[in-house]
Amino acid sequence: RDSCVSDSSDSVISSGSDSDSQIYKVVLLGEHGVGKSTLARIFGGVEDTHDYEDAGNTYDRSIVVDGEEANILLYDIWEQDNSQWLKDQCMRLGDAYIIVYSVTDKSSFEKASELRIQLRRARQSENIPIILVGNKTDLVRSREVSVDEGSACAVVFDCKFIETSASLHHNVRTLFEGIVRQIRLRRDSKED
Ligand code: GDP
Ligand code: MG
Repeated sequence: RDSCVSDSSDSVISSGSDSDSQIYKVVLLGEHGVGKSTLARIFGGVEDTHDYEDAGNTYDRSIVVDGEEANILLYDIWEQDNSQWLKDQCMRLGDAYIIVYSVTDKSSFEKASELRIQLRRARQSENIPIILVGNKTDLVRSREVSVDEGSACAVVFDCKFIETSASLHHNVRTLFEGIVRQIRLRRDSKED
């Protein structure tokens, strides 16, 4: 199916497609500049737009993972405005989360930990899939966070971990396949 981009995510939030369990809502979190929108645009298939209005977008796309189609609604709205309301919505609406930091920016890594803690607080009893993503691995010389630090953090926070380079498209597909697999694992264990 074709990807589509909508620039008004408010309507998407309020329409609430909870009854349709086949649509998975995935929310991107992370500090400004770590590459969330770049990853989202690659997922949405619209990466070559340079002067993109980046206020906040939602990408609707289906991908086939392990022979089964999955419909993903990817929310890149974390930085759409600074309201607490939006942050609360983001923490509540996801079926799964992608927390991004830049391997070239230690403070974004620390922010990722903070976000993980906030998420745990907001969704205490739920076992939500989370993938911690260290992006910008192509910037080898400016790396500030090692692979080991990233994966150790993921172990502590009980989530999956992957390093990506959105610029090189490295591991981006694997990331989104991974989130689908994580969601299915949770879903299947609930059905038992
Ligand atoms: P956001 O604020 O988290 O949405 O980050 P953006 O996606 O807007 O990216 C911020 C800047 O980092 C942009 O100039 C991107 O081109 C750049 N960027 C994103 N991903 C990568 C990457 O993997 N490698 C490099 N070198 N730059 C990246
Ligand atoms: Mg952005």
